[in-house]
Amino acid sequence: MAFDYDDNNIFAKILRNEIPNDTVAENEHALAFRDIRPQAPSHVLVIPKGRYVSYDDFAANASDAEIVGFTRLCAEAIAKEGVGLDSGGQGFRTVANTGVHGVQEVPHYHLHIMGGRVMGPMLA
Ligand code: C5P
Repeated sequence: MAFDYDDNNIFAKILRNEIPNDTVAENEHALAFRDIRPQAPSHVLVIPKGRYVSYDDFAANASDAEIVGFTRLCAEAIAKEGVGLDSGGQGFRTVANTGVHGVQEVPHYHLHIMGGRVMGPMLA
């Protein structure tokens, strides 16, 4: 199997309620919580509840229901944080660091949603 999921990763522990998190929103398929080292006034991570290592794992292998549930939770988090274009905000950036070249720290797929300030150049 190409994607080898580690059940001891920190986000798996968050999903099992073994360590706390600052939840923004949650549904059947996904959890949105604030990053402990925020890089913007609003910095939320959205993670699927399923065992997906990375963006490419999730995109290829998640069910339609999981993908819809994840995406709708992103919309809910964006609205709750007030960063969306229809929720009084000025926009945001989404990032999915993937693998070694993407400098992915936690091997459970997560989407960063950062807003509340003008973001810097993309490449670093
Ligand atoms: O580099 P990567 O996209 O994997 O980033 C993982 C993120 O998870 C970091 O921004 C880090 O601050 C965050 N994190 C967290 N809570 C933890 C552990 C890591 O919000 N308990």
